[in-house]
Amino acid sequence: MADDSVREIRINPIVPSESVLVATARGMRPRKQEAVVARDTREHVETCPFCKGNEDKTPATIAAFPNENNWQVRIVENLFPILGDDSEEAAINFGLQQAINGYGRHEVIIDHHQHGISVYEMSEEHLQMLFGAYRQRMTELYESDSRLKYVLVFKNFGPAAGASIPHTHSQIIAMPVVPENVINEVEHSRVYFRKHNHCVFCSLIDEALTYEATIYDRESGEVRRKISVGQYVVERGERFVAIKPFASRYEWEVHIMPLKHESDFTKVTDEDLQDLSRVVKRTMKRLEKTIGGAQYNFFLHSVPRAEEYSDCKDSYHWHLEICPRTSIPTGFELGSGLFVSTISPEDAAQQLREVDID
Ligand SMILES: [Zn+2]
Ligand SMILES: [Zn+2]
Ligand SMILES: [Zn+2]
Repeated sequence: MADDSVREIRINPIVPSESVLVATARGMRPRKQEAVVARDTREHVETCPFCKGNEDKTPATIAAFPNENNWQVRIVENLFPILGDDSEEAAINFGLQQAINGYGRHEVIIDHHQHGISVYEMSEEHLQMLFGAYRQRMTELYESDSRLKYVLVFKNFGPAAGASIPHTHSQIIAMPVVPENVINEVEHSRVYFRKHNHCVFCSLIDEALTYEATIYDRESGEVRRKISVGQYVVERGERFVAIKPFASRYEWEVHIMPLKHESDFTKVTDEDLQDLSRVVKRTMKRLEKTIGGAQYNFFLHSVPRAEEYSDCKDSYHWHLEICPRTSIPTGFELGSGLFVSTISPEDAAQQLREVDID
């Protein structure tokens, strides 16, 4: 091929209704770039409600790790919850106006006692404690009330990614409905499982780790594409792998998945967390070295505890999605749902894999 630019619409293998337009041709007008945030690297800020010593400026502690007096990770109620306790008002149910009562829990996880520390700078032991805190709180919330159908853990870093307080933190929202994105993944992977008797995420991992192929043009015999082993692998641990999806909405999006099939994040063992922490830290370091200072979101997708998904243990596979926000979606993207990627996922994966982080 004279020109190795890509222009193609790629179908998301997990959720086929989602696709991405990969258009890497030179002269492609780049989208407006999202600003890189000036990092606040201060260890302690007197006025910050999440800093050590200011515990009285936040609602009461729900849980603290390793303990309340000497906490390194602390969970508190969100001061401005988007979902809250039961209200007396009945939910609306009038014609096309249907609503569910906004019952739920919204909590903040202060990721670290140090104000401006980045995830890639946290020790593996600390990350283990943080992911252990996610596991514990998710389990408790699911067990606290059967009306809670989904518990979402996520992190926003940078104002464009939605973070309103600069002190490093994540959030946990327990809600009375399963969110659309999760429904799509859970239901599509269930359909795939019924057809192939195999988890689609496991297939993706197998493909990423073992596939090697050359696709030829039938007419001319020219090589159209080469797929090589590990092309999408960004980082690999003993139990986890970080993959750059073949059709991802965000240009630098990376997914971290357990190599062994498991649908439910709350089932991770301490040994799993040890390897997960290492893979997360190294992946975040790779992203930092490659796209420096990007704002991002990450979130955990785990099988919902809702009754209607009780048969999805074999078909769904939990994962952590990391979505750096390097550019602002355009009207075309929001209007069509077709996201544009100006760097090919193969190139992005290669850059991330090859950057020196040791
Ligand atoms: Zn702080
Ligand atoms: Zn699987
Ligand atoms: Zn997902």
